[in-house]
Amino acid sequence: MAEAAADSALNADPHELEKFAALAHRWWDPAGEFKPLHDINPLRLDYIDRRADLQGKRVLDVGCGGGILSEAMAMRGAEVTGIDLGEKSLRVAQLHRLESGVAVDYRLLSVEALAAEAPASFDVVTCMEMLEHVPGPAAVVSACATLVKPGGHVFLSTLNRNPKSYLFAVVGAEYVLNLLPRGTHQYEKFIKPSELSAWCRASGLEVSDIIGMHYNPLTRKYGLGRDVSVNYILHASKS
Ligand code: SAH
Repeated sequence: MAEAAADSALNADPHELEKFAALAHRWWDPAGEFKPLHDINPLRLDYIDRRADLQGKRVLDVGCGGGILSEAMAMRGAEVTGIDLGEKSLRVAQLHRLESGVAVDYRLLSVEALAAEAPASFDVVTCMEMLEHVPGPAAVVSACATLVKPGGHVFLSTLNRNPKSYLFAVVGAEYVLNLLPRGTHQYEKFIKPSELSAWCRASGLEVSDIIGMHYNPLTRKYGLGRDVSVNYILHASKS
């Protein structure tokens, strides 16, 4: 099967998908390039579970990569579908599922295509650390809103755009602390909470909370808190 990114009509950047494909074999190395995602996973999982109660819910994880969050949500009792346009990442996710025995349904599909196929099908839709890699993030938010059932929850995480986020997320993380490979993030693609909130409202979602995720280089620990100036998660619901 050809890599889905070859389709120019897709709302996807082939260079971005290639970056993740090149690292796909590293998804489940907790000390590798995806270490930050492993480190923040328990925090974001608890946040989602607290606000949406995952047990027994139908959940869609958009841009699931190797399945770090998808598997964790399934382990909390959710019935999880993970979609991504990276074929290699999905293959790694499927292999890991064999090893862990955690049931997740992985599909190579764009969120826009799934929205056309199965509107209002999920209790919870998550799209984590993907929007800043996509040419048209507002269209992704709109598709997430279409996919969630009335009364359901949408969780979106990305990077804020300001001098501090440039310093921390690009210079600090990629060049000083080497937490991420150089070139992982493009500053111009970062998204302000006000912009993300406006796209949510335009898609019929009501924003109920925005929380920051921050990294302390001294303790090497991540935490959730009020400071949304660098990484943040937005929680919205469909009425
Ligand atoms: N959500 C996961 C992985 C984040 S990395 C987590 O937080 O653990 C970003 C992922 O988005 C990669 O797996 C990449 O392949 C995927 N991606 C990038 N552009 C995409 C697009 N347009 N549609 C679907 N997935 C995309």
